[in-house]
Amino acid sequence: MTILQIYVAPHPVLKKKAEPVTGGVTAGLRKLMDDMLETMYTSDGIGLAAPQVGVSKRILVLDIHQPKGDTLTPAERRTKPQFFVNPEIVQSSQDLRIYNEGCLSVPGQYADVARPDKVRVKYLDYYSKEQEVEADGLLATCLQHEMDHLDGILFVDHLSTLKRDILMRKLKKFTKENEEDLEKTHVL
Ligand SMILES: [Zn+2]
Repeated sequence: MTILQIYVAPHPVLKKKAEPVTGGVTAGLRKLMDDMLETMYTSDGIGLAAPQVGVSKRILVLDIHQPKGDTLTPAERRTKPQFFVNPEIVQSSQDLRIYNEGCLSVPGQYADVARPDKVRVKYLDYYSKEQEVEADGLLATCLQHEMDHLDGILFVDHLSTLKRDILMRKLKKFTKENEEDLEKTHVL
């Protein structure tokens, strides 16, 4: 398994609309998803989209059931990994859920984002099989956050211009100082 480089905002790859996967899920894409998962566990994240590792394809991985703890190995974190290729929202609830989101591409920054509480998503799984999932709670939040990445949208784009500017300035400072000992919540 290979640990991939995670691209940080404002890198242009994070602003690009990712291409759909055509011709099904190949062994090469499965290897990419395995590497993404390993990278996600190593970085203490619960979700990762392909553009975040510089691959502009509509692929994401997540595992929202990881035990908490900074010293856990990737193997100890692996609980219930999920793989989504060409995910599409087919239905969303009117009810919203607010979650304090973070992002591996916007390190050290968090903000409350409101998104539909429930979504129905269709996608291809690890084995290229068509699937549909009715997601709610953290899974719904995480899926929508990662799917935004496929359209070049970051969680900060859901904030007011003022809030976003403040956050991006803090990110710049954070990246410079490269602080490591921050209190962490779930990073998507
Ligand atoms: Zn993210």
